[in-house]
Amino acid sequence: AAAHAENRWHGTGTTADGHAVKLLANVGSATDAAKALEAGAQGSGLFRTEFCFLDATTEPSEAQQRESYAAVLRPFAGKPVVVRTLDAGADKPLPFLDISAEPNPALGVRGLRVAFDRPELLDRQLAAIVAAAGDTGAEVSVMAPMVATPAEAAWFAERARAAGADRVGVMVETPAAALCAEQLLAEVDFASIGTNDLAQYTCAADRMTGALAALNDPWQPALLRLIALLGEASGTLGKPVGVCGEAAADPLLAGVLVGLGVSSLSMTSAALPAVGAALAEHSLADWQRAAQQAVTAPGAAQARDRARAALDG
Ligand code: PEP
Ligand code: MG
Repeated sequence: AAAHAENRWHGTGTTADGHAVKLLANVGSATDAAKALEAGAQGSGLFRTEFCFLDATTEPSEAQQRESYAAVLRPFAGKPVVVRTLDAGADKPLPFLDISAEPNPALGVRGLRVAFDRPELLDRQLAAIVAAAGDTGAEVSVMAPMVATPAEAAWFAERARAAGADRVGVMVETPAAALCAEQLLAEVDFASIGTNDLAQYTCAADRMTGALAALNDPWQPALLRLIALLGEASGTLGKPVGVCGEAAADPLLAGVLVGLGVSSLSMTSAALPAVGAALAEHSLADWQRAAQQAVTAPGAAQARDRARAALDG
């Protein structure tokens, strides 16, 4: 049945009643970019730039960065790509960054925080991204990872606009950012929810600890409630909010996220056909009903069951 449903997916995301949802791929290399387009992605909602520099022992020059980014952007000419600035820290070490060891890497100097005491590093990266966008004709946006406050979003947006970025966004990966959704979104053009990190910070459960997988389940109602805050702010301000964490790759949850007000879903390419097919099976109103059932459930398993029951009923 799943294979049959996937055959009905033709590359654009819509609910059964024609509500459009952008279906995008997460990429980190030119190979990923080719795979994404082959799978029918409408663009990329997350280009993890740190993947370009895993072996670099010194900071790549602006020209080298420009070339690395252009290789990934080129296949997406004419299509949207959201380029995420460096997401590294003691949790994701990069040899050239020499970040000191920390007792709690997940709660440490990571993501945008790395740039606070070395803003030139961010500025060089932003300049390289803007140049690579011009080289390739991809419709590039930039976004920052691990943002906690609207003030941080404003700080990033100012630097990104000064570098010439056309569209500027932030990731929502901390409960703090989600709780201030409207103020945060007011500073930027869009937001993208990183459910992998947002899940771990919402339930205070390390995403690297297998024993805590149930608390990191993206169906956790508390996580869904934070996503709902972003969906509401998106409606109020008329600015798009997407999801680029693993949650977007679960076909049933993808529909629930749309029901919460999310307008783009970015995932591993392999998940696109099943997500596209699932979305098309129900109307936006059905997905909204399923979402309302899920957010009020007492746990992740019940949220999933209730969403399914709301759609079957
Ligand atoms: C996330 O946290 O959901 C995310 C997309 O970023 P990463 O998985 O790279 O931390
Ligand atoms: Mg993250």
